[in-house]
Amino acid sequence: MYKISLITGDGIGPELSESVIDILHAINDKIGLKIEINTVEAGDAALKKTGKALPDSALDTIKKSDTCLKAPVGESAADVIVFLRRELNLYANIRPAKSYPNMPALKENIDLVIVRENTEDLYTGMEFEVDNSAIALRTISEYASNRIAKYACIVANQRNKQKRVTCVHKSNVMRKTDGLFARSCAAAAKDFPNITFDQMYVDACAMNLIRQPESFDVIVTTNLFGDILSDEAAQVVGGLGMAPAANIGDNFALFEPVHGAAFDIAGKQAANPSSFILSAKMMFEWLGMKNNDAMSFTVAKKIEEAVYGVVREGIKTRDIGGNKTTKEFTQHVISKLT
Ligand code: ATP
Repeated sequence: MYKISLITGDGIGPELSESVIDILHAINDKIGLKIEINTVEAGDAALKKTGKALPDSALDTIKKSDTCLKAPVGESAADVIVFLRRELNLYANIRPAKSYPNMPALKENIDLVIVRENTEDLYTGMEFEVDNSAIALRTISEYASNRIAKYACIVANQRNKQKRVTCVHKSNVMRKTDGLFARSCAAAAKDFPNITFDQMYVDACAMNLIRQPESFDVIVTTNLFGDILSDEAAQVVGGLGMAPAANIGDNFALFEPVHGAAFDIAGKQAANPSSFILSAKMMFEWLGMKNNDAMSFTVAKKIEEAVYGVVREGIKTRDIGGNKTTKEFTQHVISKLT
């Protein structure tokens, strides 16, 4: 039995959560993997109600669970997800960009993963105003850079593709911070002799993600660059509606879509739940690995096959060129889960 906490979020969050809860119930009923879901309120709605975007009770529930699923949160995202990443030491943000059939994609045959450092960079909130200027402090440590590069090498090893890790930075301009990042990543990669390690400036990477995205295997990069490049990579394969992510630490992990709360389409049943459903797929892979649980791996595979099968038949939500509602799309995925 896995205890899963689920942050229902803001904007399209509640609709995506409903979809994933239906999927989890189907897994429980049809496949027999026992799951207990504890929904948690955090984000703008929780802030309005309780004065705290992440109430203590919510944090407590999350900490007592085996893992957490998080739907997108609105304006208070920094107080929820940036806080949780640091509080739970979820240092690796894994963002795959993978081709699915029938997508409005720029290119086909893409299967890359962005491994984004999740605890440092310009995300530590060290910003202040002096006179008429605003200053942000960027932290990059040897320890965190080494740790994320090691993780990227492990991911590349598991993927069985080119076994290539591309370290993305801008050390020609940010000589101290990105210089340290690049050096630490290169040092970490030395422990993985079967991995081809190379480096690319972030502007060149942004261009190459459009020009030849199929050439990438694993990208390792700093927090802000990872945030931006993963939205770009998601759009190249078909859009944010298909983009899942994992936040992974040594003992805990949290899974969420790459995108935000998308208030423009909230409450209209127009959201593509694939991003959250595929985040759940990543969750079962992690549970499988952590607990040496073959059943969890099977469930992950079945979820991906179900989504793949549905879009291959041309059954799609509006963002990827279809006409199905969030609920209808979810029901099609469930019908393929056996
Ligand atoms: P944030 O900065 O909070 O991550 P963002 O800049 O990535 O947010 P989003 O709101 O996540 O912006 O997404 C941008 C647009 O993409 C949305 O306004 C919406 O139109 C579309 N979009 C995002 N997610 C989905 C989805 N699951 N289904 C359909 N469309 C989506």
